[in-house]
Amino acid sequence: MHKGIGVSPGVVVGAAYRVESVLGSGEPQTLDSPSQVPAEIERFDRAVEETTAELEIFVQRIALELGTPAADIFKSHLQIVNDPELLAKVHAAIQKKLLTAFSALQVVMNGYAAQFARIDQEYFRERLTDVRDVITRIGSHLTRKTESSVNGAAESHPGDEPVVLVAHEILPSQAMNLGELPIAAIVTEIGGSTSHAAILARSRGIPAVSGVEGIMNDVVSGDLMVVDGREGHVIVRPDREATMAYRKVQREFFHLKDSLIANRDQPAVSCDGTQVELLANINNLADAHSAETVGAGGIGLFRTEYLFLTHHDVPGEEEQYEYYRQIILDSPNKTVTIRTLDLGGDKTVPYLGRRNEPNPFMGWRSIRIFFDNPKLLVTQMRAILRAGRHGKVSMLFPMITTVEELRKLNKLVKETRSNLRREGVPFAEDVKTGVMVEVPAAAVCIEALLRETDFISIGSNDLIQYLVAADRDNPKVAHLCEPLSPAIFRVLHMVLEACQRTGTPVTLCGEMAGQPRSALVLFGMGLRRFSMSPAFVPTVKALLSSVTTAQAERFAHHVLQLSTGDEIRSYLSERLREISSTLELFDSA
Ligand code: PEP
Ligand code: MG
Repeated sequence: MHKGIGVSPGVVVGAAYRVESVLGSGEPQTLDSPSQVPAEIERFDRAVEETTAELEIFVQRIALELGTPAADIFKSHLQIVNDPELLAKVHAAIQKKLLTAFSALQVVMNGYAAQFARIDQEYFRERLTDVRDVITRIGSHLTRKTESSVNGAAESHPGDEPVVLVAHEILPSQAMNLGELPIAAIVTEIGGSTSHAAILARSRGIPAVSGVEGIMNDVVSGDLMVVDGREGHVIVRPDREATMAYRKVQREFFHLKDSLIANRDQPAVSCDGTQVELLANINNLADAHSAETVGAGGIGLFRTEYLFLTHHDVPGEEEQYEYYRQIILDSPNKTVTIRTLDLGGDKTVPYLGRRNEPNPFMGWRSIRIFFDNPKLLVTQMRAILRAGRHGKVSMLFPMITTVEELRKLNKLVKETRSNLRREGVPFAEDVKTGVMVEVPAAAVCIEALLRETDFISIGSNDLIQYLVAADRDNPKVAHLCEPLSPAIFRVLHMVLEACQRTGTPVTLCGEMAGQPRSALVLFGMGLRRFSMSPAFVPTVKALLSSVTTAQAERFAHHVLQLSTGDEIRSYLSERLREISSTLELFDSA
């Protein structure tokens, strides 16, 4: 049994399918004689041409399916594949060291990895992933060893049976391409709840476990595996009893998923008729479509980082406007809460300058970056206010820590509005502005913030990691980032109560909104707007329709009396089992 972080709930028993890196760590191979050099260089150049052609098609396809920002990742890959320095390095390794083209690529890749690690590991991590992705792609053309390449995964797939994908990490292009594969579950060695693999798994509603150290040493393709995305457990070659037990749970999970999706047109109400809003968290256009499919009432959190992370430079006002407009038009009820850029921490973009902060999660991130680059924020605000005409739109500010910050932002919104008015540029006058409560200081001083904001959105993912001082993506301390714990519920209770007292609309948009046990308590504490990964909407709808408001209030009241996470978890598991034994399968808390 391996233990990792459960990043997407559900249980699956299935055959493993390893996604290898084409560029393994084998011994470099040399040519037999210098006379082979010209032919080897030609072979390499041909592989580069094929890779370029393939990427061009890929950019067009992704642009159509997922929109411009996603396609931009691959536009940047096109630049990498034709980077003169990369090509010259490989040519030189073939000519001078008489390496085969494949080994030359390996050597060059290793050189980049060492160089990137030396300069600034934090900053270059994402960039190195892109370089590795491109080099892997060229390598697969060279060897035609397509089973481990990004595209080849589909060709060499063992059959139509959905598989358990096992990888060291999932590269960006793999995450995109995997959309076509029948995947039952995903297991990766690195990455936490915000990795490509986790995002992909959640948006497709398949179980996933990340941070499973050493799994690649223990699994060969075809091995039977159990993946439990609730508990973060992975079993390789389970015995007969475990296989049967987990298969039963899997059958229930599938059956339930199918039956739940049928509730997409049902209203979101509790058993005794209390109405709730079930909204979706989205990162891109494809997620907006998923939100529509599952019957979400709107978008409670649109993370705009994706647009910026996949862009070579700052996207201009027009481009942002177009993108937001498209998202709004395609979203359920054209209702979207757009969050201003939340970069920093692990999400960096080159055009904001290189930084080497000792503690990036506590550093220059999110709204703090904006205060040093107000033009960036004003451009985004203008695009959001203009796009607001196409639906019911709100603007949300992340990582607010003090009232002073909020005042600065409110002033900037006011100025931006009057500038648009003066310039005669049409925009929506009714765009509300809100504050994310995800820094403990904001939660503690909630009363003061409520006096100066239209609405609140609780970002429980960050709020939890900052409350317990544990990085949410670090497997070593992930056990502390536990939503079902006394400290978290006390803080949430305090914030929700203040919102109720002042009549301020409040949403909770962290992962716990979509987890049955925590959703029960939140509903009992009076929360009426939940925003979650689209795949969880049907589950929470079914859950709330099976409970009365008074029942949930009793649960919440009891939970607030308990003093340990274990007590809370087991109390809620019992309550959930009483309400619906099957819905427990969807809980990964
Ligand atoms: C959160 O912090 O809870 C949240 C929803 O935002 P993100 O996960 O994007 O940080
Ligand atoms: Mg956050």
